[in-house]
Amino acid sequence: MDIGILGIQGDIDEHEKMVRRIGHNPIRVRTVEDLSKVEALIIPGGESTTMGKLMEKYGFMEALRNLNIPILGTCAGMVLLSKGTEKKQPLLKLMNITIKRNAYGSQRESFEKEIYLDGEKINGVFIRAPVVDRILSDNVEIIAKEGNNIVGVKEGRYMAIAFHPELSDEGHRVYKYFINKVMGCKY
Ligand code: GLN
Repeated sequence: MDIGILGIQGDIDEHEKMVRRIGHNPIRVRTVEDLSKVEALIIPGGESTTMGKLMEKYGFMEALRNLNIPILGTCAGMVLLSKGTEKKQPLLKLMNITIKRNAYGSQRESFEKEIYLDGEKINGVFIRAPVVDRILSDNVEIIAKEGNNIVGVKEGRYMAIAFHPELSDEGHRVYKYFINKVMGCKY
């Protein structure tokens, strides 16, 4: 399958490696036109305010709202899929969740912790990570938690996780989950 990776900011190379590792074809998406070549899109981590502004400028916000392709958002990508954060910033607003950005504060800027996704263990790499603040619809399913914090959700063809699967050895399980359990979703 041709899986797009939004090439604006973040660990783009690492995401590409992971997609290849599970036998699929990564395609770097730099323009809205590139979206026609892909069956799904990964939005990497980075800085969601900057990424959002660039996505707006290049027309990605409108294109992705109209296209209905499956999207996996990681870290800043999770923020961008949400309906709101503490501050006003450009968002896709495709998932019925709100986000608390940098939820772990400066004392725990980054850390690693075992996370379970669908019963499978993943070493979750959290870097200035967001968490889900509120769930706004019954269609949102929680798929991963860190303590009491919601760090993974899916809703229809959209999936968002707060950690960085591209930086962990078992991270490929996240991509497999997305391809097997989310991409097939018809609504
Ligand atoms: N703190 C960043 C934000 O809110 C996300 C950090 C990341 O993607 N590693 O945009």
